[in-house]
Amino acid sequence: MAEIVNPFFEPSTLPYQLPPFADIRDEHFRPAFERGFEEQLAEVHAITAGDDAPTFENTVVALERSGQTLLRVAEVFFNQSSSDSSDFTNTLEEEIAPRLAAHEDAIRLDPGLYGRIKAVYDQRDTLVHDAESRYLVERYYAEFTLAGAALGDADKQRLREYNQKLSSLTTRFEKNLLADTNDLAVVVDDASELDGLDAGEISAAAQAAAERGLDGKYLITLVLPTGHPYLAGLTSRDLRERIMTASRARGIRGGDNDNRELVLEITRLRAARARLLGFDNHAAYVTADQTAKTPQAVAAMLGRLAPAAARNAVAEQADLQKQAGDLVELAAWDWPFYTEKVRKATYDVDTAAMRPYFEAERVLRDGVFFAATRLYGITFTERDELVAYHPDARVFEVADEDGTPLGLYINDLYTRDSKRGGAWMNPLISQSRLLGTPTVVVNNLNVPKPATGEPTLLTYDEVGTLFHEFGHALHGLFAQVTYPKFAGTNVFRDFVEFPSQVNEMWMLWPEVLANYARHYLTGEPMPRELVDRIEASKAFNEGFKTSEYLGAALLDQAWHRISADDDIRDVESFEANALAEVGLGNPLVPPRYATTYFAHTFSGGYDAGYYSYIWSEVLDADTVEWFRENGGLTRENGDRFRSRLLGVGGSKDPLEAYRDFRGRDAVIEPLLKRRGLEA
Ligand SMILES: [Zn+2]
Repeated sequence: MAEIVNPFFEPSTLPYQLPPFADIRDEHFRPAFERGFEEQLAEVHAITAGDDAPTFENTVVALERSGQTLLRVAEVFFNQSSSDSSDFTNTLEEEIAPRLAAHEDAIRLDPGLYGRIKAVYDQRDTLVHDAESRYLVERYYAEFTLAGAALGDADKQRLREYNQKLSSLTTRFEKNLLADTNDLAVVVDDASELDGLDAGEISAAAQAAAERGLDGKYLITLVLPTGHPYLAGLTSRDLRERIMTASRARGIRGGDNDNRELVLEITRLRAARARLLGFDNHAAYVTADQTAKTPQAVAAMLGRLAPAAARNAVAEQADLQKQAGDLVELAAWDWPFYTEKVRKATYDVDTAAMRPYFEAERVLRDGVFFAATRLYGITFTERDELVAYHPDARVFEVADEDGTPLGLYINDLYTRDSKRGGAWMNPLISQSRLLGTPTVVVNNLNVPKPATGEPTLLTYDEVGTLFHEFGHALHGLFAQVTYPKFAGTNVFRDFVEFPSQVNEMWMLWPEVLANYARHYLTGEPMPRELVDRIEASKAFNEGFKTSEYLGAALLDQAWHRISADDDIRDVESFEANALAEVGLGNPLVPPRYATTYFAHTFSGGYDAGYYSYIWSEVLDADTVEWFRENGGLTRENGDRFRSRLLGVGGSKDPLEAYRDFRGRDAVIEPLLKRRGLEA
């Protein structure tokens, strides 16, 4: 019998190096990770062990070539742990995640390696000639330096201790938050209090109560943001108040799940680490390696939006108060409820009526793919014989207009118990000329699967999500870079949402919409007035939405602009002052996340980075305007955006790429207009 070879040990021989999913078994992962760690450490050792003088080739390029086995297994594993997890992947992930972090530290804090990178960096004018290679050297030098590679041994030891301590504190923050969120779920005794919810929501609440042994009662579980989706419908004002009060109580009730001390410790440690690395504060440390560059730039942008957003929210509040009448003094928990009433009265928008026009296959082929073909000339062919990691994950081959193959696009639409929530894009294989790799990308959504024989009718939001995620996929598929480090979405965090936000514009573009939005039974096009009403209502409630987002973004900045010497003792007053200082202290518009349940910033990797969403939306809105000014959906426009921006990936300064595409720097006015924030 032939020896069974671990499919991760060699590159795949399938088309586009698609991982051989049919051959991959659970027992292949652990040995592949082991070999991957060992192999890359040996490759790094080979770089540092030699006596030869450091060159671009023998140091930086060698580093770019290293770690192929680890990458092959990691891309497949983390794809699976996100979209088709099991007890096996959960166990292995817990084991592998800290080892991956330690592996990365071992490379980044290796003094021999850093010495060689620095030597190449210092001599880059003579050693490195083309622009992408020079940028690669600059990026390696910057990343290693920011990770602490230049520190002395004692400081490196302190850094490792900070990192370790922070990792355990942020994990505790997350655990406390989950526990408090569960504990604070709201119990409702009588179904009459649930007036305003639909039958499905009520039976879900009964089910949730039964699962906790509260038979005959109803349980409303909390969501992460301050506002709960049920606040829009519930007619019981008392219950609305209970839900929001519970939501805002998370992490500040005392006892085991209180997050206040943790926040103070996390922010102190982050400030101390930033100082160790030579920065005034954590926000300065984080933004130094983003397109924003400084916390001052972030503050200037957010500060420019905040007053107008707050002013609009006050105007909206007046409308809501009018709707509510004199007997009710509007409170924060009333906002969504009266917003829905005003929305219906003013715009007559009923997004549910649109679903029959959003049949999933049609949206994908005649909408998402259609727009991409019109813009970029690319075509899509489903390849049934290529097997992905789950029967619902479909494989499409993507080709250029002249037939040149570009890569594979995998679409995994449906929700299942083994898939985490949300929607995202992830690469399985990333394009690179150096390694001769093509692109294989995956889009995941969480659309409920209809009964057999029934059509999949998407919601308005799901259609938007599909266009958005496909924008990330195009960023990957169009990559035209030499070094794998730069492929597609490997760009700064405050830049990465920009291309996907731009792709959302085609959802309602008349030519595109007319092509896909047809009634699934009759084939009738969606009535124009439905679309018009949606367009008309777009800036509605934006004062509130922008304010609650900015409140969270500014809080995140404020907590990370403290210095290691600041001695902050009171979380609530720090938060109240930070919001009041920027004019976002309106008690009717609380921040989307308050400090003690702000998972993005205290456990989710968006520390000092929650501003990114609106930061990239400036570029998005400015780009949408450029497309409009230049005739919209044309090959010429598509080719320019593709060649000057999408294809470049992270291989040059992103704002330089933007200037190259747009002909100037981005301006903020289109965003102000979109969100109704003009003076
Ligand atoms: Zn995105």
